[in-house]
Amino acid sequence: MTGFAKDFPILAQKVYGKRLVYLDNAATTQKPNSVIDTISDFYKTDYSNIHRGVHYLSERSSERYEKTREKVSDFIGARNSSEVTFTAGTTDAINQVARSLEPSLRGNEVLVTGVEHHSNIVPWQMAEAKLKAIPMDEDCNLLLDSVDITDKTKLVAISHVSNVLGSVNDIKEITEIAKDHDVPVLVDAAQSIQHLPLDVKDIDCDFLVASGHKMYASTGAGVLYTNDRFSDLMPAKGGGGMVDKVSLEKTTYQEPPLRYEAGTPHIAGIISMGASIDYMQKIGLEKIEKHENDVYSYARDRLLEMDNVTVYGNTTRMCGSISFNLDQVHHYDVGLMMDKMGVAVRTGHHCAQPLMESLTIEGTVRASFALYNTKEDVDRLIEGIEKVEMMYT
Ligand SMILES: *Cc1c(COP(=O)(O)O)cnc(C)c1O
Repeated sequence: MTGFAKDFPILAQKVYGKRLVYLDNAATTQKPNSVIDTISDFYKTDYSNIHRGVHYLSERSSERYEKTREKVSDFIGARNSSEVTFTAGTTDAINQVARSLEPSLRGNEVLVTGVEHHSNIVPWQMAEAKLKAIPMDEDCNLLLDSVDITDKTKLVAISHVSNVLGSVNDIKEITEIAKDHDVPVLVDAAQSIQHLPLDVKDIDCDFLVASGHKMYASTGAGVLYTNDRFSDLMPAKGGGGMVDKVSLEKTTYQEPPLRYEAGTPHIAGIISMGASIDYMQKIGLEKIEKHENDVYSYARDRLLEMDNVTVYGNTTRMCGSISFNLDQVHHYDVGLMMDKMGVAVRTGHHCAQPLMESLTIEGTVRASFALYNTKEDVDRLIEGIEKVEMMYT
């Protein structure tokens, strides 16, 4: 194993007699030793419930939990750690925002893009908002001159990076346009937080959401950044920990962040996000970006060279995921055969059916990259595709 893969014990294994090449990172990333050890050590030494007890372990757990909040807050460039709420993940975070904003969304419109993940579509529909998409060209570049914000637009909710195409949307520009109309902006950073440096102050968004498990940390842990302009939203969830005073007649709520954190969270999972941020920062975000960009560009170039392969999307900036199809072979069959060659890719609609519809396809093969992938992994992918093609021609 070369490069950063040595930090990820799961990648040392062989599958079907071959070194595992894991290219399903947009679905979830593997965990480095430091994250695994943090979770294990936390249960061995500090575990208890947080913000509840005065006893030793509870204090230690609370302290580590709150330190993680500081770390996440710094990592995304928040002004204040009270703007960072821990959630169960991106889906949970978006659902919470939808619930909180529901009174203003109902019967109105949310502006999205045509590349959104279902979790940035369905919650808005459940809040009875109508979705409108920013138009895009045939390469899937957003046409920002055609952004149509009306009196009915109550929120702009856009992914930073597409989990299907790897297209990077110009969220700063979109936020600027939205701000001209006084419309709040939510950024779905599930596919960018692990690849690109983020700064919510610079983006100037109102909400930003991400999942721990896609940034080398645990499942069941996520981030909801809420600009302190929204410090008095109706909490989406009620329960223990988020209240100031409760009587049977009336309840008053805490200030953020606790206001938005009802019930016992996934404490170890959330603390593991601190360990994954430490891991990434130790390598350096710029170094990660550069390395990933080299591998990604190499993969794209090699795929584009292939005669019977269609690659989807071609935007000014791209990272993370590449979607493609072979002319002769169904995506599902490609995935199955690649698996037997030890290469893990994803096939299907990738929770983005509206995008599939606009590309007039049912699904794609998706290779998605993380910091531990290398050009050798790309070579294995390409070799695999060549073998699949030979079997079918
Ligand atoms: C994965 C993903 C989500 C949903 O994240 P969960 O961790 O499954 O809640 C939302 N948006 C994008 C762009 C994603 O890639």
